[in-house]
Amino acid sequence: MMRRFALRPLQMFAGARFAHDDYINRHIGPNEAETAEMLKTLGATTLDEFIAKAIPANIVRPPMKEFKALSEKDALSHLRHLMSKNKLHKSLIGQGYYDAILPPVIQRNVLENPNWYTPYTPYQAEISQGRLESLLNYQTMITDITKMPIANASLLDQATAASEAMYAAFQAHKGKRAKFFVSSTCFQSTIEMLRTRAAPLGIEVVVGDVASVDLADPSLSGILVQTPDATGAVHDFTDLFAKAKQKGVFNCCGGDLLAMCVTKPPGEMGADIVLGSAQRFGIPLGYGGPHAAFFAVRDDLKRSLPGRLIGVSKDANGEIAIRMALQTREQHIKRDRATSNICTAQALLANMSAFYGIYHGQDGLVEIANSVHLKAKTLAIGMESAGHEVVSKSFFDTVTVKLNSVAPSEFVARCAERGVVVAADLAGGSVTIALDEATMESHVTSLLEAAGLQQPVYKNLEALARQRAGFATEVARKSPFLQQRVFKSYQNEHELMRYIQRLSRKDYGLTHGAIPLGSCTMKLNAAATMIPMSWPEVNGLHPLVPDDHSRGYSAMCLDLEQKLKEVTGFAAVSLQPNSGAQGEYAGLRVIRAYHASKGEGHRDVCLIPQSAHGTNPASAVLAGMKIVVVKCLPDGRIDVKDLEENCKKHAKQLACVMITYPSTYGVFDSDIVTCTTMVHEHGGQVYIDGANLNAMVGVTGPGFFGGDVCHINMHKTFSIPHGGGGPGMGPIAVREHLAPFLPNSALGPKVGGSQSFGQVSQAPYGSASILSISYMLMTMLGSSGLRRCTEYAILNANYLRKRLEQHYPILFVGDTGCVAHEFIIDVRGFKKSANVEAEDVAKRLMDYGLHAPTLSFPVAGTLMIEPTESESKYELDRIADALISIREEIAQIERGEQPTENNVLKNAPHTARVVTAADWTRPYTRQLAAYPSSHTVLEKYWPTVSRIDGAYGDRNLICSCVGIESYKD
Ligand SMILES: *Cc1c(COP(=O)(O)O)cnc(C)c1O
Repeated sequence: MMRRFALRPLQMFAGARFAHDDYINRHIGPNEAETAEMLKTLGATTLDEFIAKAIPANIVRPPMKEFKALSEKDALSHLRHLMSKNKLHKSLIGQGYYDAILPPVIQRNVLENPNWYTPYTPYQAEISQGRLESLLNYQTMITDITKMPIANASLLDQATAASEAMYAAFQAHKGKRAKFFVSSTCFQSTIEMLRTRAAPLGIEVVVGDVASVDLADPSLSGILVQTPDATGAVHDFTDLFAKAKQKGVFNCCGGDLLAMCVTKPPGEMGADIVLGSAQRFGIPLGYGGPHAAFFAVRDDLKRSLPGRLIGVSKDANGEIAIRMALQTREQHIKRDRATSNICTAQALLANMSAFYGIYHGQDGLVEIANSVHLKAKTLAIGMESAGHEVVSKSFFDTVTVKLNSVAPSEFVARCAERGVVVAADLAGGSVTIALDEATMESHVTSLLEAAGLQQPVYKNLEALARQRAGFATEVARKSPFLQQRVFKSYQNEHELMRYIQRLSRKDYGLTHGAIPLGSCTMKLNAAATMIPMSWPEVNGLHPLVPDDHSRGYSAMCLDLEQKLKEVTGFAAVSLQPNSGAQGEYAGLRVIRAYHASKGEGHRDVCLIPQSAHGTNPASAVLAGMKIVVVKCLPDGRIDVKDLEENCKKHAKQLACVMITYPSTYGVFDSDIVTCTTMVHEHGGQVYIDGANLNAMVGVTGPGFFGGDVCHINMHKTFSIPHGGGGPGMGPIAVREHLAPFLPNSALGPKVGGSQSFGQVSQAPYGSASILSISYMLMTMLGSSGLRRCTEYAILNANYLRKRLEQHYPILFVGDTGCVAHEFIIDVRGFKKSANVEAEDVAKRLMDYGLHAPTLSFPVAGTLMIEPTESESKYELDRIADALISIREEIAQIERGEQPTENNVLKNAPHTARVVTAADWTRPYTRQLAAYPSSHTVLEKYWPTVSRIDGAYGDRNLICSCVGIESYKD
């Protein structure tokens, strides 16, 4: 038996320390003695015995193939050794990725700061004001630079943002206009993505020269153009957009934030939707990501904006407060009518880019843009003097050159000798070179030498470049931007560091305590797993470098795929999807492609149980499927009879069933094998939503009870931090027969199957750099540690359930009398007995220094608790004690000792200002308001605003920080 030490400081000081370096001991909350105590509470003697009881026998898997755990230190050395096989050349490939300089103050205080990376999506806005303010800054920055009225708080990448734009245009015309035109000079990955996403929706993507587009075609819903385009050419689309608008055609425009600092922004050309990537605002290349995509729209489109929108509202005291706006659009409510399936996006990266904008301000950004532009002009002049032809007459940072005296392949080879990577169009005889903030003079002279210029003198060429215009004055930007106070106040490091820390202090993260959000798996994000993200050999690679530059990545990805195959029981893996929802989409497309390969392309019915996560139906719609809802029984299990009826009724059309396992109600349903067998018998495939894999690793797996494909939320089960709403990764794993259909990539390393349906992320391995986090975790746990995590996830949940069951009804418990790794407490009865709702309990928990469980999913008006294996017994007891104490507060209302309106629950959370106000007329004490438990006396977390009025903010939508500034002044 493993020896363990307690995590609580007191016991550590008492010397209960064991001298060994197994990471598992740091990862798992309870120690040996506590484990014994917890098992006793549950009436079991050993963990093995308890797990055997909790898991239905018919789903138990054979043991995983063993792989050894490495200590934190050894795992870091191992990964560093692997990654040293990557070649770190200077990449000038472009295609939407540019080397950027991450200001160290942002690296240290945001990227490497757990206060920023551990929180969840800001559903509990009162304890998320810091990152909400930062996301509002991001939205402001995007609207201001693009000159559009409204922007969301990020999307997954530029190519998927483009497909959201295409879908918005299609939907705005109610699906009656089936064509979407894309300029052939958009990035190639964008074009590929649009083709992939259009097919199942019945949209026809027409790719061509903008000059040839027939705007009068009544079936045209929208156009997508880009400036600067993939060749580097800067455009002014004002006339085109005006003509398109007359025909009711949507104008979608890809753009580059840095270019927009000095060139006319698409908002001033009349665009309806402007999209692109904020990567070059301080975010490392990361071999493809994560990076934030931006998406800005016309004012009247705000209610159909995909992704999350942050808005300003007020709290119970009339103070300004920020929260996610228009939450009713969340997939949970709208399901198959949702605008998009995007749930996890790129919050952390959006925040980092916003701070980059704040760090530089308008003047700094213009200076950077001018400097990049000057380097590009210098390169152009040098290329011309070497006898080559610069194709793009109007450019910003990217120059396309037709080579005359040297073959493109020879030029590329000479550049490589000098440590520079460029992209060549071998057939066309040209090269495209994209410069960036981090390009040095020596890189430019290397390029010129490679192009045959003898001993180029940079200063001389630069002097010539200064006299030449790169683009016409008509397309120069004239409007100011980032004039709000926040973009002018923090340009020295002290002030910026303090601003970043001030914001983070407002937020509750795993740095404060548990975040027991059911379905979200807020487990430890160990420091060791986060370290490789800051290594240049991990974050410095462009995703389209030649294969022999990314050997380290391919080795890591191969090993990670092996491990995920072993965990799921499947035969092949795609690491491409950038979120769970994108994994769902990819998996469903794989299923459809498989049916089509057998001549059964008509199979399009997707059966989805009532209890499913909202992204399931939203993804199925995007995959062109018809959704049929399957009933659940009152005890939470799938209604097998209803499933059977639907299988029979739709047998000819049946594509698949989409099941979350263990169910979203947190139970291991022993009927699962019956269900999967039944669907197979009717010709359907089985999609397993693997968001709850944390309850399965090493014990069971989607491949062991009849699944054909699943996605894996790496930001849940495998410890990628949630970043306050992203990034994430949602790889999919499939059985052998589905492997040929896995997603591919038009550019970069060869990935995917021989009969792939297309591409779901812009980069071949999605947000590749954060895969290193999961890889580290798995390496440090080893196969037996992975299984142990599952066991403790189940033990911790059941211990907490046991402690609470005398106080709250537990909604669903499996046949075994146990829950899986999460459970639902039912608080709906208190509405009648005490006028108390789930939200009141959630907000009161803040006064106790805790984050609420998942509210109203999967059952409205209830709370779903998932403690994870990494919470200590101390923390589990703190959650239980707080909830039991709140139950007593409710009882006081029930007994008439406290009024039904003016009480600690209805008034929660209590801010410092409220409890220290001069007058206090409430029927409870200030102490009870703010210090309801002994823990709060030791360590008080103060919410910074009172209960937020969400509806007020939705009626008076303010989604940029102009409002805040004027309010504060
Ligand atoms: C989290 C979750 C998803 C969606 O994952 P994202 O990464 O946010 O897109 C899907 N299904 C279930 C059950 C989940 O818990």
